[in-house]
Amino acid sequence: MAQLGNGSHRSLAGMNGVTVRESNRSAVFEAIRHYAPISRKALAAHSGLNPATVTHIVDDLLGAGLVLEVAGDTTVAHSNGATLRRAVGRRPTGLSINADACYLVGLDLTHTSATVVITNLAAELLVHKHFTVSLSHSADMHVNRVLKEVEHAIAHSGLPRDRIRGIGVGAPGPLNTRTGTVMSKTFESWANVPLKQLLEERFALPVTVDNDSNTAALAEQWFGAGRECANFAYVVVGAGVGAGMVVIGHLFQGGGDLSPEFGHTSILADGPMCGCGNRGCLEMLAATPHMVSRVVEAMRLGGTSILSALLPPNIQSDGSSPDPLHEDFDALTPERIWDAVEKGDPLATAVVSEICTHLATGLANLVALFHPSVIFIGHDMSRAGPRTYALLRIALAERGVPSQVQVLPATTDDWVPALGAVTLALRTLFAGTTC
Ligand SMILES: [Zn+2]
Repeated sequence: MAQLGNGSHRSLAGMNGVTVRESNRSAVFEAIRHYAPISRKALAAHSGLNPATVTHIVDDLLGAGLVLEVAGDTTVAHSNGATLRRAVGRRPTGLSINADACYLVGLDLTHTSATVVITNLAAELLVHKHFTVSLSHSADMHVNRVLKEVEHAIAHSGLPRDRIRGIGVGAPGPLNTRTGTVMSKTFESWANVPLKQLLEERFALPVTVDNDSNTAALAEQWFGAGRECANFAYVVVGAGVGAGMVVIGHLFQGGGDLSPEFGHTSILADGPMCGCGNRGCLEMLAATPHMVSRVVEAMRLGGTSILSALLPPNIQSDGSSPDPLHEDFDALTPERIWDAVEKGDPLATAVVSEICTHLATGLANLVALFHPSVIFIGHDMSRAGPRTYALLRIALAERGVPSQVQVLPATTDDWVPALGAVTLALRTLFAGTTC
């Protein structure tokens, strides 16, 4: 992996939705969180900012009560002078996060699951709830459940309600990051879901929404294997397909209000028409609903598989493509298909190999454009087994992707991407709110 060096967290001038000020404060805060207790001098080196800028930001963070001055293990001075526990004769030597200054909610939302976390300011996990729903459930049903779960998590956290200062959300794209509205081109009920508005109305807290692949990439950068890697891609493969790109230590967010949509890059010029107006989009050919549909289709054509027992008896083809959202297919989960590959099931292996070929075609384009040193595969496909990953690597090699580009399942802890959403809430906090 390429190692992050000094200056890796440079300002993000011109990047969508993130001001230079927010970005610099975020970089300083993250360096304090990571290296605490840390001196101002070391902070300048780690953040890549000049000492004067660091001093200014640190003064702001101290004044807001987000950061403390510490000496060794002993907290010696509170930022704004309110609480002092000074060790006589010792000077403050470093900076640390004031972890309990306030609390943040993170939400990782996919079409089929949601994770709710509450963390302290140091992004330490305090509350965690994960649940899954059927893909046949409407967006309304899913979002209402999410609102209830967030309400429940806050109510049962035991934390003072007025110390919870923001909500960050990673949601499936395409979405408008300014309005926080999901605008799916693939799933009708997700075509216009005003997530930011719904959450702000319910909780009266600032809400920041970004693409789930971007928040997952942030989580990998802050908390996972991505923290030592300057250039990586976090590719979400579930009911949708997306990618968060970290380039020279920065999350690439494109321009304007719409986040980039890797899932809607075309990999088949004369492929099926997509709701986005393009043909042969990667999401149509590599997402899990298509994989389920292809397995059902293969069985309808007489193929036998250990997965057959999961489907209703006598599934006859009426000539149309099977609808993967139909509740008859709820038991045929992606995890069971990948598990069948591990057991050597020929039908599952043939279908997954086909899906991996599509995915590899998209990934080869992504490698040609960005040259990441690592591709993390996240969400549902992070739970696929070694045989599926071997099929993917074969397909990548056939498309000229160098073997030096590592392809790894992302961390499978379901709460980690939600921590990436917490970092969004942190950035909003840095935009001017004080604790
Ligand atoms: Zn499309």
